[in-house]
Amino acid sequence: MSDRLVILGSKGGPAIRPEGPMPTSTLLELAGRRIVVDCGLGVTVGVVDADMHLRDLDLIFITHLHSDHVLEMGPLIHTAWTAGLAKPVSVHGPPGIGDVWKGFCQSMSYDIETRIEDEGRPDIRDLVRITEYGEGPVLDEDGLSVEALRVVHPPVTDCFALSFQGGGRKIVFSADTAYFPPLADFARKADVLVHEAMLEEGVDALVARTGNAASLKKHLMDSHTLAGDAGRIASLAECGHLLLHHLIPADDPNFGEEEWHDAVRKTWSGPLIVARDGLEIRLD
Ligand SMILES: [Zn+2]
Ligand SMILES: [Zn+2]
Repeated sequence: MSDRLVILGSKGGPAIRPEGPMPTSTLLELAGRRIVVDCGLGVTVGVVDADMHLRDLDLIFITHLHSDHVLEMGPLIHTAWTAGLAKPVSVHGPPGIGDVWKGFCQSMSYDIETRIEDEGRPDIRDLVRITEYGEGPVLDEDGLSVEALRVVHPPVTDCFALSFQGGGRKIVFSADTAYFPPLADFARKADVLVHEAMLEEGVDALVARTGNAASLKKHLMDSHTLAGDAGRIASLAECGHLLLHHLIPADDPNFGEEEWHDAVRKTWSGPLIVARDGLEIRLD
């Protein structure tokens, strides 16, 4: 297995539209581990389309409990279970992730009990290990180490950037955050910085289409990062590549690759990648 990063869902926010991109989830294969970072709607089909067998599901990290990052976590694990999952899956998430999992199992208890009884499957509840993490070291095993940094994403307080190091590489995810300069230290010399990004002109067009324009724009500006500022973080951190992810807007035909490149031109001169669903980046 060679190291790679696959964008499974690239849009910010939970809504989906015909032919449009899916909410946030990413597959990271690093140091022999298969890591799913965030589980927005569409993560299960995303993993399968990335040619990973569901029974190989290994590690899941959730950055925060907004639905565009966690809505399909239970269904992903459940579908892996029905696809033959036999080894435990480790889930690392912020405080409250245990309740999300328990609630999912409760909602599906009829099906779970039936399949254990009828198909002789192991109990899915014994196959999942939940760890609730906070800021600091999260995991250090088998050549993979993971660290978390609390970022600024009001009103959510438990939202964490994640740094994955293994096989001589460092991949950092900003999670959802307002412009947060300490991320530059956290992402120092990362091979890839996966940073959320927003285009202000695109946000204006987006809020013009919806009813609660003023409060929606304020929420977006207070809790997310403009693409130019994501470029600033990548430059300060001296990253190898900047990958713009969790795009807002993600499905407005007036804002494409060119507009994203223009937005970071002044703050970042290194290699830039704009996320789209299914995009694979080889880490060799
Ligand atoms: Zn989000
Ligand atoms: Zn969020």
